[in-house]
Amino acid sequence: MRTLNWMVPASLLLALGAMAQQPTETQSGSQPAPTQMSAPANTPDQAQPASTQSSAPASAQPAPPPAAPQPTTMDQVVDRFVMREKGLIKMLQARTPVIETYLQNLTLDPTLGPVPKDDKYFLGRMDLSVSIDRKDYIHDDQSMEKHLLGGFSKLFKIQYQPLGFSWMIFADRNDFDRQHYDFRYVRREFLGEVRCLVFDVTPKPKSGQGRFLGRLWVEDQDYNIVRLNGTYAPRPRNAFFFHMDSWRLNLIPGYWVPAFIYSEEGDFSAGAKNQLAFKAQTRIWGYDLHKEGESDELTNIRVDSVKDDSPTAQDASPLAAEREWQQQAEDNVIERLTRAGLLAPEGDVDKILQTVVNNIQVTNNIDLPRPVRTRVLLTSPLETFSVGNTIIISRGLIDVLPDESSLAMALTHELAHIVLGHNLGSKYAFNDRMLFSDEATYQNLGFKHIPEEEAAADKKAVDLLKNSPYAQKLESAGLFLKMLNTRAGALNALLTAHLGNNMTEGATVTRMSSLMGSAPQIDWNKLDQIAALPMGGRVKLNPWDDKVELVKSQPVAITSARDKMPFEVTPFFPRLTRTGTTDSNGTAGNAANTAPTPTSAANTNAPAN
Ligand SMILES: [Zn+2]
Repeated sequence: MRTLNWMVPASLLLALGAMAQQPTETQSGSQPAPTQMSAPANTPDQAQPASTQSSAPASAQPAPPPAAPQPTTMDQVVDRFVMREKGLIKMLQARTPVIETYLQNLTLDPTLGPVPKDDKYFLGRMDLSVSIDRKDYIHDDQSMEKHLLGGFSKLFKIQYQPLGFSWMIFADRNDFDRQHYDFRYVRREFLGEVRCLVFDVTPKPKSGQGRFLGRLWVEDQDYNIVRLNGTYAPRPRNAFFFHMDSWRLNLIPGYWVPAFIYSEEGDFSAGAKNQLAFKAQTRIWGYDLHKEGESDELTNIRVDSVKDDSPTAQDASPLAAEREWQQQAEDNVIERLTRAGLLAPEGDVDKILQTVVNNIQVTNNIDLPRPVRTRVLLTSPLETFSVGNTIIISRGLIDVLPDESSLAMALTHELAHIVLGHNLGSKYAFNDRMLFSDEATYQNLGFKHIPEEEAAADKKAVDLLKNSPYAQKLESAGLFLKMLNTRAGALNALLTAHLGNNMTEGATVTRMSSLMGSAPQIDWNKLDQIAALPMGGRVKLNPWDDKVELVKSQPVAITSARDKMPFEVTPFFPRLTRTGTTDSNGTAGNAANTAPTPTSAANTNAPAN
């Protein structure tokens, strides 16, 4: 048992090492496989495989701000970061990044502390041109405010200024200056590798409602704001401002762009009257996406899908034509989802996912006419789906899976659909079906199977897993599903798939549910039993170019049942680095950097056993 636990990750590492030596089939062979962090600014296109390359970058990377003399007084520092903030607002005017907010309302569990009671999800594109405006990806009869406010709208009238959880992108979009604010220098402090000057910010009396109140961190080279922490004040009657912690990353030279916002309210101390309690994570990405209407749409639509490089080219046989057709649909969908900012470009995480899929295929002698590809959906809700021979798994699902066997469980369900020929989406081979606005993606694309195909895929997947390197470790996949089952009633938004099938029905797990039978009981007090991880711990997303990589974080010891936090929202603490610099590990960094070495998908949080 102990040996097996180590063997599979080790074999995966070996396989990855071998793969890194040679170009993969699906990538354009002449290009070197870039390490994620080493090619930041100069070669934004290289990691995109030709088959899914949507277009040139949205626009040329913004020129870094001109060099300026170093300030010598704190007043000059304030003037500089006020100026840099205006520069950032201007640079981002042309951008329409994706913004995602995932919120969990909390209730107090005597053993586990605050736990999710229900949840809300919002996904949109943000237009940063004039005022902050969000376009919904998810449409329903509720307004965006109601969607976010959910059950507690009756308790408080929550004022959004400008809107929702995106206000803390800037401290104050219009009046961030000395006329409206007092800035008090506090101290120097490192955030990650970046030395910062820390300032407390208070609005001047009578400067108006909804002014920023809190603390900001300014890096000490170009004097860009890298973090904002606080709220807005004064608080109007019957209204309420959230507390927020807003982080920026240095993804392009000279600019730190907003990437993460954490928000939390609530007080469970004895006698507390505040009934509002939630935690929310807001993520922003897709800064380099095309702005809707800005690009020449027609040049982006794939019209040359049928490659004809065989020397003895002939008309395709009926079966070959059917496969070409499916491939064309698959390519269209992948390209369209990438362009909408919902899919990561092909990268190192896919190699790991493909290795897991390959492990299943090899041990089951599955020989498919085309290799199975994998891609990462950038959103948080837990979902998988497949189109043609491509398996797509959401970032949120990869985040919460405790180990490689549970990852294999998630991927094998989709592999089973492919093996069984449950092909969906051939209608997307018609290019007119790709012509819709990005916000309408969920209305125009869908890959949900009928219940009979779901049941058949589950059954086939269990058979495949039992004949795979993961056969001896399926109890951990079952344990994951069991934990999901206990939390399913509180996590409706997280469990609502937007493109594929839900893993649950009502508040009950249906996906691969037979695996739950062989799993051990959930034991909260058994500290080495990790059934599922918190949100956001495994996949790191570059908000500029949407590339993803796996985080290799140091395991943190779990000391109580409250540390387990399965599926829960936690604060962000990205490790800040400057773009193009080299960190202490000798690796080039451009984001919240951690060691970029891809490893097996084995758990990095749970104690090794
Ligand atoms: Zn399915």
